[in-house]
Amino acid sequence: MTTLAEAMRPIELKTTNTPPVCPGCNAPVLLVARYPSAWCNQSGKRIDGFKESVLCRRCDTNNPAAGRLLALFNADGELSTVADGEAFGELVCDWVNSVRHRTPNLADLDSEEARWRADEL
Ligand SMILES: [Zn+2]
Repeated sequence: MTTLAEAMRPIELKTTNTPPVCPGCNAPVLLVARYPSAWCNQSGKRIDGFKESVLCRRCDTNNPAAGRLLALFNADGELSTVADGEAFGELVCDWVNSVRHRTPNLADLDSEEARWRADEL
C-alpha cells in the first residue's frame, strides 16, 4: 500500500539525448521516471530503494494513464507545445501511480540474483 509520505515523495524524470530502449520492444522510450520504492526482503526487512519505469509509445497503449501522457508527445518524440506544465505533472503522477505497483517479473529477478551472486553484476 502506498502511504501518503511515499506518494508525496518526488518523482524524478530523466530526459537524455540518447533515450534508453524499451525492455519490451527495443524502441527508444519517451520518458524515464525514477521514484522511491520500498519492498520487503525474504526476512521481512523493509528495503528502501528506487524504481524506474519507462514510457513506451508501443507497449504502453493499453494503460489509460500512459495513453493520456503519450497523447502529449508529438510523432518525433518531442513534448507537444500545447502541453502545459501543470497538466503534464498531473499526468506523470497518474502514470507513475499506475505502474509503481506492477509486480516485477520474478524470472528476471531470479536471473538477476543469480548473476549478482556469481559476481557478474
Ligand atoms: Zn516498448
